[in-house]
Amino acid sequence: MTADLLPNLPGALFKTVFEKSPGSLLIKGDAPRFTIIAASDSYLEVTSSTREGIIGKGFFEAFPEDKTLSDDTNARSVFTKVVVTGQKIEVPTYRFDVYNKETKTYDIRYWSCSNIPILSAGTNVDYILNTVVDITDEVHAREIITENEDRLRLATDAAALATWDLNLLDQSFVSSPRMNEIFGHPPDAPLLNQQELQKQVEPDDLKNIVVAAFHEALVTGKYLYEVRISLPDGSPRWIKTQGIVIYNEKKAPVRMLGTVLDITNNKRDEIRKNDFIAMASHELKTPLTSIKAYIQILAKRLALSGDSFVNSTLLKAGNQVNKMTDLIHAFLDLSRLESGKLHLKVTDFDLNELIEETIAETVTLSPGRIINFKPKEELTIHADHEKIGQVVSNLLSNALKYSDKETIISVTAAKEKDNIKVSIIDKGIGIRPKDQEKLFQRFYRVEGDKLKNISGFGIGLYISSEIMQRHKGTIGVDSEEGKGATFYFTLPI
Ligand code: ADP
Repeated sequence: MTADLLPNLPGALFKTVFEKSPGSLLIKGDAPRFTIIAASDSYLEVTSSTREGIIGKGFFEAFPEDKTLSDDTNARSVFTKVVVTGQKIEVPTYRFDVYNKETKTYDIRYWSCSNIPILSAGTNVDYILNTVVDITDEVHAREIITENEDRLRLATDAAALATWDLNLLDQSFVSSPRMNEIFGHPPDAPLLNQQELQKQVEPDDLKNIVVAAFHEALVTGKYLYEVRISLPDGSPRWIKTQGIVIYNEKKAPVRMLGTVLDITNNKRDEIRKNDFIAMASHELKTPLTSIKAYIQILAKRLALSGDSFVNSTLLKAGNQVNKMTDLIHAFLDLSRLESGKLHLKVTDFDLNELIEETIAETVTLSPGRIINFKPKEELTIHADHEKIGQVVSNLLSNALKYSDKETIISVTAAKEKDNIKVSIIDKGIGIRPKDQEKLFQRFYRVEGDKLKNISGFGIGLYISSEIMQRHKGTIGVDSEEGKGATFYFTLPI
């Protein structure tokens, strides 16, 4: 290029600035030839051309057209339009493959270009400044995102999941057409907004579950609940929604993303199973109560006989009946829990006294075992006496069940900040970390040789954790396999 080819404009300085600018080409407005006047170093590099090879040539002589591309984003129609209209034209994305001298093949490249007219005195377009930017990486990144989105869509479609996206800053809400279907509306109808969806949720569930889950999610970052909804025709359905919270760099929640699944069929099976458990437990309770009464009558009559064998056998029979009654009560509690009918009867009582009573009852069922407990301070709590007793009893009987006869169990109870903490410590088989997280799930039992002969249903800890949750307390375990376990619960004062 020579500076005098750029009339009125440049000196040596301009020439340098232009040649160092990113991806610029100056062409004359002499359609249809479009003579190339100047090119920057980077333009030459990306087009694999030399300054001598293109300056003074027509654009299409230097860069032959790909005749297969006849849309209006091709160079000829864009340059022509700039000359005719005198307006700047941007082409946000176009593909122009670049020859790679090493591999001797063309590399796929995407570009974004802008074509600015340089006008002379009138409206005549004397020059066009053509600037190109390599956006190949951005286009590939966008392709990957689209591919991931497609894959995700495939997965959600296969699982019949609806998806939703809530912007916490402006409360805008977007859901997928599947959401309409789950809520009983045509998928091609306008997508339901958050208020419309909430109107279909059972009012009790909306108040007790949805709102609580939302507030919990803002703290934990996770959103999960199951609620009942009613369809426009009045039929009931169960849905499960699951989601995550997205935070900005200042750790403020900005967005929530999630899925919704129709779980009505599973729920129906579960409800049938719960009804069965409730009914069976109830039926078993009546004859058991009679057996217990007969044993008590017999025990009273025979107490005076002095026959120690008969007396101790009756005592054992009575204890076994008590164990069975506890088990049946646990099953009844389970079905009450699942159907949302477990209600607390809250009173003020002395926790130390309750622990002592429960220890005494537990020890009669396991003669010879020692459970140590020394009350440390006065502990009056406001809670459901029977249910807290049940939690203590569950934890104590587990401590006995999962430890050797020779070992001692200790119990502690004390105030800790705003809570009362009760711990039940055993020196038994302990629990592996991977099992510890799951112990409080319904029907979860640890598998292993040591546990094969220990009977149980895996509901005691589940019920205990539900009871603690309803008291706004916590329950947990610290343990090392083979060294024993410390189960604890806390209650707010
Ligand atoms: P169950 O004892 O009837 O199986 P739970 O819900 O009370 O049901 O307990 C669940 C599981 O947790 C048990 O199967 C057992 O594997 C484990 N577990 C509970 N308490 C202890 C303990 N103190 N030490 C070791 N393992 C325990």
